[in-house]
Amino acid sequence: MPTSQRLRITVDLNKCVGSTICVQLSPSVFALNDQRQSSVVDPTNDTAANILEAAEGCPLGAIVVQDAETGQVLFGARDAAV
Ligand code: SF4
Repeated sequence: MPTSQRLRITVDLNKCVGSTICVQLSPSVFALNDQRQSSVVDPTNDTAANILEAAEGCPLGAIVVQDAETGQVLFGARDAAV
């Protein structure tokens, strides 16, 4: 189910080790790229709760979720958001 809240999702590729936890928790939003690192394929294609759970599940803290309208950081390290 798509989220009604517009989210900006950022994966810090300097941290991502390709554990696939985010892909397993929200497979319609995250996928591994050719470098076996997570990339965001569609930031609207899951509930905000699932997306936040995926971000929280990342063992490296590589995922930042922001409100796309306000820039408010909903999860993750502010300094990782770009
Ligand atoms: S859970 Fe974190 S480390 Fe694992 S693939 Fe996703 S972003 Fe990368």
